Parts: sequence; structure tokens; C-alpha cells
Amino acid sequence: MTASDARFPKDAPVRGPRALIFETGSPESRCVEAPVLDVPEISLDEALAGGVRTQPPALPHVTEVEIARHYHHLATMNFGVDSGPYPLGSCTMKYNPRLNEDVCRLEGFAGLHPYQPLETIQGGLGLMVGLADTLAEITGLPGVTLQPAAGAHGEFTAMMMFRAYHTAMGDPRKRVVIPDAAHGTNPASVHMAGYEVTTIASDANGAVDLEALKAALDTDVAALMLTNPNTLGLFDPNIVAITEAVHAVGALAYCDGANMNAIMGKTRPGDMGFDAMHINLHKTFSTPHGGGGPGAGPVCVTAALAPFLPGPLPVRLDDGTYGLGWTDRSIGRVRSSFGNFGVFVRAYAYVLALGGDGLRAASEQAVLSANYMKEKLKGTYPLPYDRPCMHEFVLSGSRLRKEHGVHTLDVAKRLLDYGIHPPTIYFPLIVDESIMFEPTETESLEDIDRMIEVMLTIAAEAASDPDLLHGAPYSTPVRRLDEARAVKQPDLRWRPSSAE
Ligand SMILES: *Cc1c(COP(=O)(O)O)cnc(C)c1O
Repeated sequence: MTASDARFPKDAPVRGPRALIFETGSPESRCVEAPVLDVPEISLDEALAGGVRTQPPALPHVTEVEIARHYHHLATMNFGVDSGPYPLGSCTMKYNPRLNEDVCRLEGFAGLHPYQPLETIQGGLGLMVGLADTLAEITGLPGVTLQPAAGAHGEFTAMMMFRAYHTAMGDPRKRVVIPDAAHGTNPASVHMAGYEVTTIASDANGAVDLEALKAALDTDVAALMLTNPNTLGLFDPNIVAITEAVHAVGALAYCDGANMNAIMGKTRPGDMGFDAMHINLHKTFSTPHGGGGPGAGPVCVTAALAPFLPGPLPVRLDDGTYGLGWTDRSIGRVRSSFGNFGVFVRAYAYVLALGGDGLRAASEQAVLSANYMKEKLKGTYPLPYDRPCMHEFVLSGSRLRKEHGVHTLDVAKRLLDYGIHPPTIYFPLIVDESIMFEPTETESLEDIDRMIEVMLTIAAEAASDPDLLHGAPYSTPVRRLDEARAVKQPDLRWRPSSAE
């Protein structure tokens, strides 16, 4: 499809802008036919005279079908995981089974109040204990809190636990070491927790540079925070040597586990020597995300750190019932109530439905999909770190820029015209014009082939007609936004003409 394609006449409202609901309809349009009046009729003036309002409300006058179309249109203006492939690297935008949405809405779960007497929420407590046990098994780390509301919140929670641990050992420390490929939340959480950040460079393979790590480690270091597999989608081949080096100076090893989708049922961060990690239930374990929450970022820790877990913790009591408990050196609460309970229900339903073999198969499929796409695209888009990847890979748009003046942003915008959500772009920062694909295990081979074909088509378009890409997208409700202003000064309000 190009801008001038006859199948898409210029003014066709494919998904394009429409008049606002306030600008449509007519004063006579009504949604409902009111029954015949059986009380004394008063005029509008009389009605208004009795109240504070001096003018009738400026509400739209539309019919029921116009309302239905209005909301349907709004619901289709954005691009979601139900609209088409959404290969947004590091975000694991996979399909979340609808069944889990039904399960978390069951009255017995949805109708619970966290402050009901404990004997009336035994099922909810039991579910949380079951989920925590399951996450302990998946990660190889026995202590679990479900309270944190997101991945970054989990990172922050763990840093507070690390501080409490080191302080209890009589040796509070100052710094946390983070590789330069890290997600932006890593330095932010560490900084908020009051530690200084020491950044170390990645090596030529995109992994932790062991020498640089060892040079940065001393007895002032509280922890290393590492994403494994990292944000290049690469599993660090030296992972055990890394956690050993960290422990050798008395520091703790933290795993950003947002990328658990690559390794479920295959390997466990606890077995690699990590002391703590968070899991993004809303990425790996079946909660739709992208709209800003709710999510959940449970933290799993070693037995040595478990006494510092936030509380209260749902626990199984000796008599087989469930209750709440506090560990003796708890850092306190990090979230009201129990955390985002609806997310726990989805995650537990997902885990129980798939079982251990199913989770392993999901990871294997995610890794296979990513490697397949990577191999098909790397001849056209350079692959700076050419190694077998895990669930995602990072291409570079540098060749298109040098040869045709086309940027990664142009490629991303053009993908929208083909009904594909753009991948993550310009992250990680260590790759020039980076394009980070995560196809996930839920896209079919047909859709993955189509994504590949479209990426190759766009590269050909860059060579033959670069301006076509500079102007993309053509088929979306809005074209190129001023992204900085759209964030800082969103103009979301309509004012009736009478109020101008
Ligand atoms: C998504 C992500 C995070 C942050 O998780 P939130 O739930 O968005 O706070 C941290 N690290 C990595 C690698 C991620 O992909």
C-alpha cells in the first residue's frame, strides 16, 4: 500500500479521524424514547430557574447507533495486541488467554475485600500461597513477596531488602553496579533506594565484561543488578563466574527477571547464583499490559534474604488453613493490601493450565521464533551481536541511514501502515539505530513470515523511495506527532463553543 493507492481514497475514514461526538448529531436526536409524561410539565427556563445551572448542559444529541459507532471507532483507533502482531522487545506483548480474564472475574475472586476476616478469604490466601510456591520453584529462590505492583517496584523493594541485609551484617554499603545494556528502570530504582550507580561497559559479545566488573567490585559495592538474558536478548555465558565474583566481595547479585519468558522451565536464576530477582507477571504470566497497569512484580529471594521480605506474607498454617505472617526483620509494607490480586489469579491460572512442560514449551517457542526472524533479517538489517539469541534480538538501522537517509524511526512508522506494531526502537542504547524485536511464542509462523516479508519490503522502499518512509504512517488516525509535546502538553479537552 502506498499513499496514493486507489484502494484507499484520500478521505476514506479507514481508521482516520472523524468528527467529535459533540460535532455530530442534531438537537432532535435521542438515544431513548422517554415514556409519556405523567407529572406536571415545566419549561426549561422554569427548571433552570430553580437550580444553580443557568444554561442547559452542552451534551451531544445523538442516536443510539451513533453512540455505538462512536465508541466502537474510539476502541479501534489505537493499536493493541488484538489488532495485529506486537513485537515490542523487552515488553513481551504476547497473547494472554481470555480464559484467565474469565477466571479472575469469578465472583469468588473479584468480590473479595482484603480486610475481610481471614477465615472468609481462605481461597484467596491459598491462591497467593500457591502462586508464591510456584514462583519459588520456577526461579529457584524460596522466599517470595507478591506485593510489588510492577517490575520497577520489585527492583526498588529488593534494593531496600539489600540495604536492610547489609545493615544487619554491620556493613552498609554505597554502590550498585549496573551494565550499560540495562533497562532504564534499573539505575532509577537503585538511585531512589539511595545507592550510587556504577555503570560498566558490555564486552564485544554484548555480555558483561568480566574484567570491567572485577575492576568495579570492592567492599563498597552492595550489589550487581543484571538482566539475564540481557536486553540484547543474549544469555550471559559467564553468568556463574559473574555471580561468584560478586559474592567474593560480599555483595549480592540481583537479576532483573523481566525476561523470564526466555527461560521458564529451562534454567533458574537461583541456580545461577542470584540472590534476588523480580518477575513481571504482566509480561511473562498472562496479564494484558501496555495501558499502564495494573501489573505485578513479585520478588523472589534466597533463604538468607527471606527474613527481610515485606509483609504481611500469606502463609500456610500448621492446621492446613491460611493466615498472614511477618518475618522478624521485615522491611515493612511496600503496597497496600496484598498487591494486585487480580493479576495473581491470572498468573496462577496460566501456570496451572500450562504446567511445567507447557511453560518450558512456551519459552522454547519464544526463543525459536526470535532466532528464526533474526536469521531471516540479518542479511538486510545488520545484527551487531551475531550470536544465538533468546526471546528477542536487536538489529541496527544504521545501513539504511547511511545508504538512503532513512532512520529506524521511519521504519517503525512505516510498519504501522502494514498493520504491525513497531518493535522497540533506540533501545538498548549501545546499538546504533537499534530495532529490538520480540516476536513471542504466540505469533503463528504465518504472521512471523509476514513480519519478515514486510521488513524486507520496507528496506526495498527505503532504497527506491526514501521520502515514502519519511512521510509514514499514512493509515493511522494521527500521523507523526511532536512526541515531546504530546507527552508534556496533551490536548485532550474539548470546549463547547458557548464556553469559548
Ligand atoms: C519491563 C521491564 C522492566 C520494568 O518493569 P515495569 O513493570 O514496567 O516496571 C525492567 N526491566 C526490564 C528488562 C524490562 O523489560
